[in-house]
Amino acid sequence: MKVLFVSGEAKPFIKTGGLGDVAFYLPKTLKKLGVDIRVILPKYEKIPDKYKSKMIHLGEKYIDLSWRKVYLGIDFLKIDGVEYYFIDNEYYFKRKEIYGEFDDCERFAFFSKGVLEALSLIDFKPDIIHCNDWHSGLVPMYNKIFNYNFKTIYTIHNLRFQGVFGQENIEDILGVSKGEVFHKRGLEYKGGLSFMKGGINYSDFITTVSNSYVEEIKTKEYGEGLDGVFREYSWKLKGILNGIDKKYYIPNRSKNAKKLELQKRLGLEESLKIPIISMITRLDRQKGLDILLEKIEEILKENIQFVLLGTGEKIYENSLKEIENKYKNKISINITFDENFAKEIYEGSDLFLMPSYFEPCGLSQLIAMNYGTLPLVREIGGLKDTVEPYNEYENIGTGFSFKGYTSEELYKVIMYALSTYKNKKRWNEIGRRAKKKDYSWNSSGIKYIDLYKEVVELF
Ligand code: ADP
Repeated sequence: MKVLFVSGEAKPFIKTGGLGDVAFYLPKTLKKLGVDIRVILPKYEKIPDKYKSKMIHLGEKYIDLSWRKVYLGIDFLKIDGVEYYFIDNEYYFKRKEIYGEFDDCERFAFFSKGVLEALSLIDFKPDIIHCNDWHSGLVPMYNKIFNYNFKTIYTIHNLRFQGVFGQENIEDILGVSKGEVFHKRGLEYKGGLSFMKGGINYSDFITTVSNSYVEEIKTKEYGEGLDGVFREYSWKLKGILNGIDKKYYIPNRSKNAKKLELQKRLGLEESLKIPIISMITRLDRQKGLDILLEKIEEILKENIQFVLLGTGEKIYENSLKEIENKYKNKISINITFDENFAKEIYEGSDLFLMPSYFEPCGLSQLIAMNYGTLPLVREIGGLKDTVEPYNEYENIGTGFSFKGYTSEELYKVIMYALSTYKNKKRWNEIGRRAKKKDYSWNSSGIKYIDLYKEVVELF
């Protein structure tokens, strides 16, 4: 099985979010499972020199992008057994930021067409081209319209960002005829064009990152204007959960020692009796901070400690800092991005909050469970699919959950978790079950392989 994995970002070269992790761990896992998978991404200026200096130039050509003749170079690098190709064009990718430039439409149209054109410079003929998010959404379109004849799979990691641009770009930049693509089953989206809609309409199969999210995006509330399309495509849409790298998150022998260390680091009272509630998150509306903030002072009336690590919107940062000033001895707000610090919090705390409004998959709850820290989540998307609510009568479950997006429901379940915490034996049993759950990349990898086979055989 030969697969070309197309992504706008990939660790360790460049990462802005979850996609960067997936584009690193999934190919690595698939390679170990026997797939000849190679990754292709733009050669950004921001990729560290230690990688850029080792890249091998494989060749170059000029490609058509509407009326433009554009340079396309291909560089190559092998890391950890995985082969990476980099699409080179300094005009498009020698920029300060990787996304959000004035000409993103042209940059990623070039990237998408470049991926297909690059294959003649690489000695590789994939059975499947696996595209991800809006940055490579036009690959399936170019593949169909210009008869490259590859099988394509399109994975949605974040439906919020679709790559929406004005319709005037269709002929002038994309270089395809408007009549051919500007319609409901093409790129048309609210009067403009959507790269993501292209990925959805022109690919052979679509996946997203949890089964519950598959159903949620078919509804008006969570479909970001594409719910109708998803309903129509039920037959070629499926959910495959992301995993975590178990080698990166190895629990220490004593969780108690880690808890005391954390309290010391944060200047909180060092006590094993006081439960630590934690949150590691982007400070974004998606993550349920509004309903938490409504009740945080009431929660802080309990004998608890609250720790947050996050960066993002100023408005949340400010409200959190204000509360920290008021309850200094019980709360620690850390506005920074620090993966090692994150690990200390995941392991040293007792209860991990994720009251998200929507959550396609979510990794944090998986990391928390891996450390025996109990997740408390809203029953939505990947959270619903990975956290089994504790049932005290049967003593089953791996965490706590609530349904409605309200501060009352959140508050109630936090109180329930705190009362459960008092029974330390029970709490530890739940933690052991959580730790045992296998949300590794291996199980995801096997599902992708089955899908690749299905698409090669059936379509
Ligand atoms: P999303 O991709 O929507 O941000 P996920 O739960 O899927 O949410 O993944 C978030 C990842 O980013 C987790 O690995 C989490 O530990 C990490 N993370 C988020 N904020 C921080 C931070 N401030 N410092 C370190 N790691 C963070």
